[in-house]
Amino acid sequence: MFANGRSYLAIPGPSVMPDRVLRAMNRAAPNIYVGELHEVTRSLVPDLKRLAGTTGDLAIYIANGHGTWEAALANVVAEGDTVLVLATGRFCIGWGEMAAGLGARVETLDFGQAAPVDQARVEEALRADTAHRIKAVLSVHVDTSTGVRNDIAALRAAIDRAGHPALLMCDTIASLGCDRYAMDECGADVTVAASQKGLMTPPGLGFVWFNEKADRVRGAMARVSRYWDWRPRANPTEYWMHFDGTAPTHHVYGLRAALDMIAEEGLEAVWARHDGLARAVWAACGAWGQGGPLRLNLPDPAARSRAITSIGMAPGQGDALRAYLEQRLGVTLGIGLGRDPASAWFRIGHMGHVNAHMVLGVLAAIETGLRALDIPHGAGALDAASAVLAAS
Ligand SMILES: *Cc1c(COP(=O)(O)O)cnc(C)c1O
Repeated sequence: MFANGRSYLAIPGPSVMPDRVLRAMNRAAPNIYVGELHEVTRSLVPDLKRLAGTTGDLAIYIANGHGTWEAALANVVAEGDTVLVLATGRFCIGWGEMAAGLGARVETLDFGQAAPVDQARVEEALRADTAHRIKAVLSVHVDTSTGVRNDIAALRAAIDRAGHPALLMCDTIASLGCDRYAMDECGADVTVAASQKGLMTPPGLGFVWFNEKADRVRGAMARVSRYWDWRPRANPTEYWMHFDGTAPTHHVYGLRAALDMIAEEGLEAVWARHDGLARAVWAACGAWGQGGPLRLNLPDPAARSRAITSIGMAPGQGDALRAYLEQRLGVTLGIGLGRDPASAWFRIGHMGHVNAHMVLGVLAAIETGLRALDIPHGAGALDAASAVLAAS
């Protein structure tokens, strides 16, 4: 009944695309042999390195996040190698499954779905690996299924305390451009991300940043699949080598516009905006939870992402709320991905091109849904959210 008007996809990716990005992509196919496209493509590289906080190298792929997982692994993990997966939700487990598909032996430390990585357990596992069989530690900065945010610098410190040479590989697909991250500062050797979350561009571009240590591991590989090989992409001598074939022409223009928007706002300000909006969401959830089943997945604010919030209720209530908001109010929430039962859970994406009125609108829509569906909830959620924003 109230769904007509501009609909809002409030899921944790793909995220809302700015009109400026869409306009940049709305053009005839450009010449791929010479001219502007080459300049624009080259201009992305330094900006993407700045965004990830690294002076290392960057390879760009026409791929979604899963593609970057495989790309990164294909350069450093051979059949029979061992990787250590640090699971805080569905996503790192998925990365590990991809490593298994490449013939790697996968060891998993599972920290459950409501807590970050316990660095002491990682240190212990690495100390126990006296033969240094573990070649890479696979970590996720923000797990999008749970909203867990892991401390990657602390993870680096744990690996160093164990005196272990494994590569630290980090998935920032959900968090880049939302949660504070700087690859070199936190000591990751490989970072992966994709275009459709904090980077506000349609799905289709994937990024792998790697440092010298990771490239030395790449150099020692007996072979690397030609398409995923990061070396020619990071140091192309011909334009076609950037993407190993036809360039993703329109994505190049869209991403250029998105990176311009991030630069104009300033990365610190982008992080601060995500922080304030996330805290507004948490405050609203805290108020709702005072009088009903609704609860934040993560009790500890230090372990929460600024890009996505995972919220649980009773079985069936998450699905009912999502259906009500989509059909009646024009807001689409994220599913309870990887949760059991999934129907009890929903997720709010607050990543990328989001501002206060969008987030307050989502919260007001949820309040309306809880009321319409007779799901008990505490009062004052919108008061609490607006108080957070007003005080920032
Ligand atoms: C979205 C996401 C992925 C998967 O990306 P796709 O583009 O859907 O393949 C992987 N890891 C994290 C943390 C994500 O948020």
